[in-house]
Amino acid sequence: MCERRCFMERIDIGSMLPQELSDLMSQLGEKPFRGRQIFQWIHAKQVESFEEMTDLPLMLRLKLSEEFDVSEWSKILQVRPSSDAQSTKYLLRLAKNTIIESVSMSYSYGASACVSTQAGCDMGCSFCASAEGLDRNLSAGEMCGQVYSMQKTSGARISHVVLMGSGEPMANYDGVVKFIRLISNEAGQNISQRRIAVSTCGIVPGIYKLAGEGLSVTLAVSLHAPNDEIRSRIMPVAKAYPMDELLKACRSYAKATKRRVTYEYAMIKGENDSAENAEELAKLIKGSLCHVNLIPVNDVGKNFTKSGKREIEAFASKLAEYGVEVTIRRKLGSDINAACGQLRSERIG
Ligand code: SAH
Repeated sequence: MCERRCFMERIDIGSMLPQELSDLMSQLGEKPFRGRQIFQWIHAKQVESFEEMTDLPLMLRLKLSEEFDVSEWSKILQVRPSSDAQSTKYLLRLAKNTIIESVSMSYSYGASACVSTQAGCDMGCSFCASAEGLDRNLSAGEMCGQVYSMQKTSGARISHVVLMGSGEPMANYDGVVKFIRLISNEAGQNISQRRIAVSTCGIVPGIYKLAGEGLSVTLAVSLHAPNDEIRSRIMPVAKAYPMDELLKACRSYAKATKRRVTYEYAMIKGENDSAENAEELAKLIKGSLCHVNLIPVNDVGKNFTKSGKREIEAFASKLAEYGVEVTIRRKLGSDINAACGQLRSERIG
């Protein structure tokens, strides 16, 4: 392998914070303030080449382009807007020929990016299109690159980020925490951490660790069941981390961050959507700082049928009776296969 490749693989310039870039510049014999300039070019102005970094000396630009490649982050392969123009799905190719997908969604409060944290996933949730196995972790810079590709293509500023694309964020913990620090950095996109949500299938140690990072991001937990019996039938992770431990970790996250935890609950006909299921769930979580998001399960060809409108509304009313805050998620982009992993699995077969 050539020397340039080795260097590139060692130093991932798009995943570095301003201070780290300044240190890198010092190591290269450059002025440290160049680090912050480079950070701004990559993360605020979102350029894709060193040639565009016009306030850097020409020699430095040449040196950097020999050693690093900013544009390798993402090439857009396909852009698929939904018929209602509310969401757009992007199929992206990253370095190492990795294919991933990201979605942008427009809401009344702004545009939200649904970012993938891994190519593929090995959590094995039975209803999920991304459960075909893990390809690799994405770097923090590659996660930023998804936001920038969508922002530049659409021309709409992304104000919110949800880590709900393919992958399990807690299985790429360091990359995800770094991404949060990069995307919320005031010299870059400066997206408020309060507008970032990390969604996990329920990796308990990751939740405790995240609670100790001093970040103010929202924790979303894919619960999808009111007990371990149902949960372990549809989510293998439930066997490793039972619900009592998971809910304890969530309460601890809410206490440490003073932020409301979101419980995601995909409504699957005949599996988890009865009045008894709603009551069981309500009794478990009532009184804690949380919110339940009911989502009609998206059919990704795995023989799961979404619950009817009547069941979903009855489920919501039962939770509300117990004083649990609940919303029914507006379904965006089902005609563009916006459930995670669908477009990618079409592509890679
Ligand atoms: N691994 C993380 C984040 C990625 S999945 C997690 O499990 O939370 C993002 C969300 O989409 C999760 O809540 C997941 O359970 C949900 N999801 C996956 N497939 C779905 C489907 N077919 N219908 C509805 N929600 C789905």
